[in-house]
Amino acid sequence: MLKALELAGFKSFADRTRFDFPDGITVIVGPNGSGKSNIVDAMKWVLGSQSAKSLRGKEMSDVIFKGSQTRPAAGAAEATIIFDNSSGNLPVDAPEVHVTRRVYRSGESEYLINQQAVRLKDVRDLIRGTGVGIDAYSLIEQGKVDRMLQANAKDRRAIFEEAAGISRFKAKKLEAERR
Ligand code: ATP
Ligand code: MG
Repeated sequence: MLKALELAGFKSFADRTRFDFPDGITVIVGPNGSGKSNIVDAMKWVLGSQSAKSLRGKEMSDVIFKGSQTRPAAGAAEATIIFDNSSGNLPVDAPEVHVTRRVYRSGESEYLINQQAVRLKDVRDLIRGTGVGIDAYSLIEQGKVDRMLQANAKDRRAIFEEAAGISRFKAKKLEAERR
């Protein structure tokens, strides 16, 4: 479902850079400090991560390219994650769903879904239950495997339910029962 990621002014990616994720497995290799983890940070960030620490920075503006000896700092950071929606899994009437997040040095920030300005909540609603969320199984980082293995049966079941796309139906059922 993940199709591509486009970055501009995000961390070490000063220039507009596009990563395509064709069917199958994509492996990203490179020397230490070349920006591999920055790509994962961008995926978490664009999907709404509000924690600078989980993006390995101190402040949210740390994601903006800070300049180098040869070029000035960027005024804004932008990331767009592109999902293939030909199966209609996402509740958007389009074959591709582009989620964009932009943040300016002034602190102003915005989210867009297919070029339309939206709220963070809309991004959250879009991806809930799809397994691609920031806390979902799709990003398994160092330490998470341990936590999954050590989790109790109930927590482990929750991980599989999110992965299988069941959790959103559970959330809806709970909502209906409460009325
Ligand atoms: P490793 O193999 O050690 O895990 P990596 O490929 O994952 O390395 P990253 O951690 O993604 O590397 O990249 C770190 C680099 O990104 C550092 O050189 C750091 O200076 C640079 N970087 C981080 N934030 C910014 C920023 N805001 N502006 C410019 N460069 C940045
Ligand atoms: Mg790394």
